[in-house]
Amino acid sequence: MPLHKGSSRSEPSAKQRRLALNPFFGEADPTAGMESAPPRHQLPDRALPPATAYRLVHDELMLDGNSRLNLATFVTTWMEPQAGVLMAECADKNMIDKDEYPRTAELERRCVAMLADLWNAPDPSKAVGCSTTGSSEACMLAGLALKRRWAGRNADRYPATARPNLVMGVNVQVCWDKFCNFWEVEPRLVPMEGDRFHIDPQAAADLCDENTIGVIGILGSTFDGSYEPIADLCAALDALQERTGLDVPVHVDGASGAMVAPFLDEDLVWDFRLPRVASINTSGHKYGLVYPGVGWALWRSPAELPEELVFRVNYLGGDMPTFALNFSRPGAQVVAQYYTFLRLGREGYRAVQQASRDVAGGLAEQIEDLGDFRLLTRGNQLPVFALTTAPEVTAYDVFDVSRRLRERGWLVPAYTFPANRQDLSVLRVVCRNGFSSDLAELLLEDLRLMLPELRAQEHPSSRDHGAATAFHH
Ligand SMILES: *Cc1c(COP(=O)(O)O)cnc(C)c1O
Repeated sequence: MPLHKGSSRSEPSAKQRRLALNPFFGEADPTAGMESAPPRHQLPDRALPPATAYRLVHDELMLDGNSRLNLATFVTTWMEPQAGVLMAECADKNMIDKDEYPRTAELERRCVAMLADLWNAPDPSKAVGCSTTGSSEACMLAGLALKRRWAGRNADRYPATARPNLVMGVNVQVCWDKFCNFWEVEPRLVPMEGDRFHIDPQAAADLCDENTIGVIGILGSTFDGSYEPIADLCAALDALQERTGLDVPVHVDGASGAMVAPFLDEDLVWDFRLPRVASINTSGHKYGLVYPGVGWALWRSPAELPEELVFRVNYLGGDMPTFALNFSRPGAQVVAQYYTFLRLGREGYRAVQQASRDVAGGLAEQIEDLGDFRLLTRGNQLPVFALTTAPEVTAYDVFDVSRRLRERGWLVPAYTFPANRQDLSVLRVVCRNGFSSDLAELLLEDLRLMLPELRAQEHPSSRDHGAATAFHH
């Protein structure tokens, strides 16, 4: 049963619907294999020539839109052809087969070592880590480690009487809601307040008690691209420990920022330099600059990753520790991550991320100069900024802007903020490698051209249509 059912009664039933065949699709003879069109929702009885099958799938996908114009996503939409070649060469390798593909396994280990060094682990050779399918899986693993460590310390009370909780800002990405839901941990959310759109260190410390498995700090927030104050968060928890004896670890969700801050904000102390930071995750497929899906989870030392969570797989006659939710997974993305590390180095990453941040900052400023908008963030942390309409703008709203930009091919999401600031609706622009200042200029030009019409509206048209509100990228 599909999750979405869209057929109305006048249309043929799902069973009857067939793909349309173009006679040109036949291999040598244009009409060969044209006698029966394959059904859409049933496995066809007969085979098709590869060229025909390719055309059918390719043509249907044309309407997906251009990923490069998708300013909603953090995920990499451009890689070099050489990376594409390597990925195609590794599409057949299963990451879990460490014994069969020992070199792929070695490249994964080198990536972990490079990240441990990049994130200033006290002893990079002792840091432990793994690749994942993305930050969501990495966060599940990091959360599980926090929960298991807490359970170990509280075996007298858990599961008999105590219920674990996790403290975080209301702005966390949806993966943390999932973690709490799937693993039965109570989420304790620090609300937004006024112009603070992410966690407040003191408010977070105040929510902690003897059942708190950890506090999540986000670098940076998906809502507005801001970095959460990780060092202040650790300081507030240090003070809590002095007062109460509670020793609450911090996990840094660095899905985007853990691949930006090390290159552009070297003086910002957010990583393993803070003794309270137990683990860090990042998405290799965001500012790690690799196609989806690859993520990374690292722990400061083996002490932060309970041994009983680690499984052993056969590796060259010895055994290789693995920590993952699934089993089989392609090796291509891990190889592409290693390629990108090797290809760019620190200097290269710095140049690429700086270019994205320059584009974000420049575009934010130029949009501000149009006069109709108020910036919530300026793209000077993550290369991401959020904006809303100025108070005197009443003819249209951010949902109108999003819809009109879409007519021009740009995907710029509009969404409403969570608890305490539900009155606030914003647009968010994610600037990534490949979104050049030339493209930014074209976006600005389109925005400038649509303003007269928007200003002439009687009222925001979302009042007629109902606005989209949920947004969880
Ligand atoms: C994107 C994101 C995630 C989820 O990452 P995936 O790699 O898409 O699974 C988690 N946390 C934050 C802060 C994010 O930006």
